[in-house]
This record gives sequence, C-alpha cells and structure tokens, in this order.
Amino acid sequence: MAKKHILIVPGDGIGQEVTAVGKKVLDKIAARFNHEFTYDEALIGHVAIEATGDPLPAESLEKMKNSDAVLFGAVGHPKYDNDPSAKVRPEQGLLKMRKELGLYANLRPIKLFDELLGASSIKPEILKGADILFFRELTGDIYFGEKGRKNNGDTAYDVAEYSRYEVQRIGRKAFEAAKTRRKKLVSVDKANVLESSRLWREEIQKLALEYPDIEVEYQFVDATAMILIKEPTRFDVVVTANLFGDILTDEASQIAGSMGMLASASIGDGTGVYEPIHGSAHDITGKGLANPMASVLSAALLLDISFGLKEESEAIISAIDQVLKKGFRTRDIADKTTDPSMILGTDAIGEEILKLL
Ligand code: NAD
Repeated sequence: MAKKHILIVPGDGIGQEVTAVGKKVLDKIAARFNHEFTYDEALIGHVAIEATGDPLPAESLEKMKNSDAVLFGAVGHPKYDNDPSAKVRPEQGLLKMRKELGLYANLRPIKLFDELLGASSIKPEILKGADILFFRELTGDIYFGEKGRKNNGDTAYDVAEYSRYEVQRIGRKAFEAAKTRRKKLVSVDKANVLESSRLWREEIQKLALEYPDIEVEYQFVDATAMILIKEPTRFDVVVTANLFGDILTDEASQIAGSMGMLASASIGDGTGVYEPIHGSAHDITGKGLANPMASVLSAALLLDISFGLKEESEAIISAIDQVLKKGFRTRDIADKTTDPSMILGTDAIGEEILKLL
C-alpha cells in the first residue's frame, strides 16, 4: 500500500475542468489498488493573480515542495494574451514553478492509440506505429536568459544560454530512457547557426561515448520539423532544448490526434509535476467540451514516474484504450465516421473511464 500526498493545481480555463477528472481517476485507483492518497489544492496563474496579485503565491510553492507529486492543469487568460505590456502574467507562475522546483526535464510521450488513426490530419499509413518520447529541456535557453529592450525600446532581445551541466543532465536522462526502449536517440539543435547549439551537440557527443549501444542521430531543428510529419516512425527518443522542444512537441501532438490526448511529466531534483501539454483553451472553457484524457494520462505518468506504480498506470492507459475502442470520443478526436451520439463532454467521458477502472 502506498501512502502519498498529491497536490492538485488546476490553474485557469479548462485546466479546472480536466484536472477534476484526473483527480477522480487517481481516487478510483487508490480505492481499487488499496492505496491511501491525500490531496490539497493550490492556486497558480490568472486565478492566483486575481486572488493574491501573484501568479505563484509563496503558499502554493510551499505546498508544491511539500507534496509527493503535483497534478497540474494549465495557466493563461485572454486578458494577458492581448496585452503584451502586462507586467504580471499567468505564465510567470509556470516558469517560476519550473525554476523553483528544479524541473529541468520535460518528458512528453507521443503515442497514437490505434483507434485514433483516423483523427489525425496525417495519413494513417504514415502514422501507424509512431511512438516517440520527447525530452525537452525546461529551465534554460532563451526563456530564462537575459531579455530586454534597447535603442529607446525600438529593439528587443532574448538571450539563449546553456551551460555544459544543463545539457549533460537532460542528455543523460534521455540516453537512460533510450536504453529501456528501441535504443535510438535523436538530438535536435541548430548547431550550424547557434553557439548554444554547438555546445549542446558537443555535450551530447561526449555522452554518446558512454552509451555505445544507443544509435545517436544529430538533426537540425528545421529538418526534424519536416521528418516528424514525413516519417514519424523514424523517432524513438528525442532530446532537445527548451524552445525547439516547445514547438516540436506541439507539432508532434498532431501524431496523437489532438492536444487533448497528450500528457507530460516535468521532473528534476524534487517534486515532479504532471500536466497536459495543452493550455487553458479559452475558446472552449466552461462549455464542457474539453478532452480530459491528457489530464488522465498525466495522472498515469504521475503514478508511474513519481510513485513507481506501473500496474496502476497501465490500468489507466488500458481504460482509455477501451473507452476509445467502444467508440466514445470527445469532439476534438471525433472524425466524420463518428456516430454523433458517441461524442461526449468532459465529465461524461470521464465517467466512462471511471466505469472501466
Ligand atoms: P491551447 O492549448 O489552450 O489551445 C489550442 C487549441 O487546442 C484550441 O483550439 C483549444 O480549444 C484546443 N484544445 C486544447 N486542449 C484541448 C482539450 N483538452 N480538449 C479539446 N480541445 C483542446 O493553446 P492556445 O489557444 O495557444 O493558448 C490558450 C492559453 O493557454 C494562452 O493564454 C496560453 O498562454 C496558455 N497556454 C498555457 C500552457 C500551459 O499552461 N502549460 C500551454 C500552452 C498555452
């Protein structure tokens, strides 16, 4: 029996709706496998700014540090998206959380459920068998380097920076993961142009000497963007910098049919944070249309990576697989062959997953 304390951090928009389903699934797992999970909640993002003026209040950070794992929703609000001059922004909460918790590795498994072959905009014969594990570096690069304005504000800059140590620690995690999979690693950079990428490549090349069984390929990010669509089955583990990873994983989400199907784990030195890759999706907030499966799959990753509960994690993935096999869909993963009566809302599809658990 595992005794664990889980912090639920729903954040903004559909983060609230999908995380509620993720939590119910964790509860169901605790009951079925006889574990004791206790929960608390914390604020982040726009809801935290409204309540306290701070996108990541000290109390939330403290709760995160003191929990065994965090199930996270999303942050964001149209108010800030349309106002680039806003000084306090929801995303600041997210970036601070990653930095403060030392979450330097973001893992994004991209795996297509067979039932959803038709939901992607990519041809089924190209997609079939695609199974990629992305390692995106999360606490360095252009997001955290010096930024500012000069020339009376008419010129803006953001500095991309990596230390050898930062590349080594994420690189090692990626090599270790490749050992347990198909033993192929693609390292993505822009070493033909960027100095930070040249250092990235040097460090990955050094690590490769320690892992002679892993077949390593070096790609420029522009080529990766193309190959992901042309030949997604060519990839096993991919490791890349923060900005390239941000963009490539959204592109790769189309392999899985929808952003609503993709979970991620952010891990580092302390508490792990598990979250869907999608944002707060204002266009569908409050309509009950959000696909909660990315949050449910985040809960599965949480059980596997932070608690080592593999069987429990697989039970969740299998429940989702069965729900899809039965023909249930949310709107984002339905296609023209879907019977309209099988298209369910957030809570209703959550109930189907719970029934199977
Ligand atoms: P988004 O991921 O919120 O939405 C992109 C599109 O995908 C939208 O059409 C949305 O309806 C759809 N979508 C996303 N998740 C879905 C789900 N679970 N089910 C069904 N459809 C889904 O990205 P965006 O529109 O570019 O950004 C909206 C806000 O989210 C912005 O404020 C942005 O800053 C924020 N954001 C936050 C995170 C995060 O918290 N990690 C990530 C990305 C964007």
